Amino acid sequence: MAEPLGDLERTHYCGELRECHVGKTVTLMGWAATRRDLGGVIFLDLRDREGLCQVVARPEVSEAAHDAADRVRSEYVVAVVGEVANRSEDTVNPALDTGEVEELARAIRALSESRTPVFPIEDEIDTHEEIRLKHRYLDLRRPRMQRNLRLRHQAALEVRRYLDEQGFYEIETPMLGKSTPEGARDYLVPSRVHHGNFYALPQSPQLFKQLLMISGFDKYFQIARCFRDEDLRADRQPEFTQVDVEMSFPRIETVFSLVEPLFARVMRIIGVDVAQPFPRLSYADALLRYGTDKPDLRFEMPIADVSDELAGLGLANYPGLLEKGARARAIALPAGGGISGMRLRKINEELWLDRIVPDARAERRNLLTLKATDDQLTKLAEKGASADVARRLLEKAGAKKDDTVLVGVDQPGPVAMAMGVLRLEMGRELKLVDEKAWRFLWVTDFPLFEWDRELGRYVSLHHPFTAPVDEDLALLDTDPGRVRAKAYDVVLNGYEVGGGSIRIHDSALQAKVFKLLALSDEEAGDRFGFFLEALQYGTPPHGGIALGLDRTVMILAGETSLRQVIAFPKTASATDLMTGSPSSVKDDQLGDLGLLSIRK
Ligand code: ASP
Repeated sequence: MAEPLGDLERTHYCGELRECHVGKTVTLMGWAATRRDLGGVIFLDLRDREGLCQVVARPEVSEAAHDAADRVRSEYVVAVVGEVANRSEDTVNPALDTGEVEELARAIRALSESRTPVFPIEDEIDTHEEIRLKHRYLDLRRPRMQRNLRLRHQAALEVRRYLDEQGFYEIETPMLGKSTPEGARDYLVPSRVHHGNFYALPQSPQLFKQLLMISGFDKYFQIARCFRDEDLRADRQPEFTQVDVEMSFPRIETVFSLVEPLFARVMRIIGVDVAQPFPRLSYADALLRYGTDKPDLRFEMPIADVSDELAGLGLANYPGLLEKGARARAIALPAGGGISGMRLRKINEELWLDRIVPDARAERRNLLTLKATDDQLTKLAEKGASADVARRLLEKAGAKKDDTVLVGVDQPGPVAMAMGVLRLEMGRELKLVDEKAWRFLWVTDFPLFEWDRELGRYVSLHHPFTAPVDEDLALLDTDPGRVRAKAYDVVLNGYEVGGGSIRIHDSALQAKVFKLLALSDEEAGDRFGFFLEALQYGTPPHGGIALGLDRTVMILAGETSLRQVIAFPKTASATDLMTGSPSSVKDDQLGDLGLLSIRK
């Protein structure tokens, strides 16, 4: 039976007690993590947000408290009044922050009983994630989850403090907005008042933040929830949180010098000093050297273009391909990694052909492996290849003596990204990644558009409001694919943690970009007319960025899943296993919304 709290008042958190509290009478309240009965003396580990503390119930101190402790079970919520004492030397527990002391119970009240928990409330459990999510309130009690959400709170608070100091206003923008799909699918909300019409949940506050610049607020931010109805991957959630920022009159440099110290402040929370300024890499160089627009710089192993050298070798492996303009790219695996011939065959079969370039399997576009040894050069020369060219190739790939060079060639698809995946896999396998490093960088000079073969038109690489680089404006009429954008991404340890741009602030230019994206005047007017109009009333040049809060906290917490840093996340199939959402609704609800016909 649960007992009332009555006039008990908590004096300390369980995790807070130290030697300085010895001799004090304290009242703790928390969850019974464990109970051990050692022949007459009962030990409870009492847990709260701040940690664990040992409670000792001895009949000679209090018969009643001992009886009460005897009735306590796992996860009961109890209040304990008692005196803090030093533990005897042989029972000190260095693994606990409170391990020097314990509370000698004088009175124990069971404030709430608990069913047997579905899984142990401990960090090291192998309980299936579905079960943890179904009972998320239990899962969240685990110290690791408590720590993760505390870190998230601290990060958000630091962001608010910093941006406030920099003169930014936090302004909320609507959740119920207008559907202007571009990129991802919208989550739609049917209108009861206007049957057949829908609000959309914001994919981001992009247009509103730009409108706030037109409104003269100068510097805006918002820790904003965004919604995208996409197929989910490990590092995506249907709703996620962005630190959304916009400012008037910025140059790209202005945004960078705002964001770098912001990350530095957030990293201080986990005791890490970040070097500034962050290095910068153009999109083209990132693709070339790392095979991705979000390079993980915690290890080197750069990719080198060896097309000319490979063609010069004249090997029979890729007949005619290189002459027709296919590219070849190489990485060097350090000799110290000790990669055997068998392992190389596996890398080719299971990693390269099966996983990375399955389209090339039929043609068996194998990875070419070259060992930087005299032997190998002799063998190549015997096959009629030039040892000089081979030497040049090895050198370009950065191979030192005895290193192994892997060379990939354009598949039906380009080899650049495939090499990026290979680089990452090899870096991990050879343990080259410095797990303690924090490597930020800016990726710049993105193209404004990308040609979408399926749609047969250009699409924006970032979004349609991104400004073109001034010098490239003329190319909009002649060669839109070559126009560079004033866009930038910020990357941390191989994750994109933010992206933004300087915006188009000219209505005519904006209309032109819509046209290039194959939006008819009518469609542009229908979807963005309000915005094109607003741009005509005196728009300051403006720009900004959005930083992924969930992802940043995930990396800081050393986690690999976003679900570890979101209190109530969705599964990969976008469901909430605890509440059972999404769920069907009653006919009268559908009727109100004018949607009853979907039942039929
Ligand atoms: N709204 C953009 C996004 O969500 C970020 C930005 O351009 O500021 O990706």
